[in-house]
Amino acid sequence: MKLIIANWKLNPSTLKEAQELASSVPKKSKNKVVLCPPTIFLSQIKYPFLGAQDCFWEEKGPYTGQTSVLQLRSLGVKYCLIGHSENRALGETDKQINAKIRVLIRHKIEPVLCVGFGTKKNDSLSVIKKILLSQIKKAMGGIGKRRLVIAYEPVWAISRGLGTGRPADPAHAAEIAGFIRSKIANAAVLYGGSLDAKNARGFAARKIIAGGLVGGVSLRPAEFLKIVEAFNN
Ligand code: PEP
Repeated sequence: MKLIIANWKLNPSTLKEAQELASSVPKKSKNKVVLCPPTIFLSQIKYPFLGAQDCFWEEKGPYTGQTSVLQLRSLGVKYCLIGHSENRALGETDKQINAKIRVLIRHKIEPVLCVGFGTKKNDSLSVIKKILLSQIKKAMGGIGKRRLVIAYEPVWAISRGLGTGRPADPAHAAEIAGFIRSKIANAAVLYGGSLDAKNARGFAARKIIAGGLVGGVSLRPAEFLKIVEAFNN
């Protein structure tokens, strides 16, 4: 079974639209589909698997505007993205990422560690691997040999904002997934970055890729469904 995660980012603008979007994603699939709406809508979205887009590293206390894993857990949230390039670009550090992963694990919410910030399309494989390994090692400090979901998202491949809108080559993503698995044997490696209905098959065909993290297209249910179906095979 593959894992397909929808990252809605700062969309949509109203609860009504968010509920309509969630209800247009089929609830049953051969794969596990996780919706990550904006935090403020999490309690109002009905879907079998919900994820958060981020969390805070402390459980409670004087931290204005933050979201605690205890709050996420009380809503039945099962997954949480951590280390997304868009957050790293805003200043999130490896130390904070590690602290967030530890608190999530402590409260049985599955972290989805995003790596790939700081890589460039024309970097050599060895440079890319070095960056990724550093991000993974720092994120995993103190968590032992636990299974971890890791999303390889080359920042340049993200569809809007930081990226170019052009996906990585599936062969490249598979090579990186193999590299990560060679270092962290029980990692499940997803690919993210401009996945769409057309290119998803190429990634899905690589058995080493355990699923996808989808941003822009996750806001278009019919197309998103085609990505989910591509990973069914
Ligand atoms: C993302 O930012 O997590 C992502 C994968 O975005 P997109 O699919 O829009 O490139």
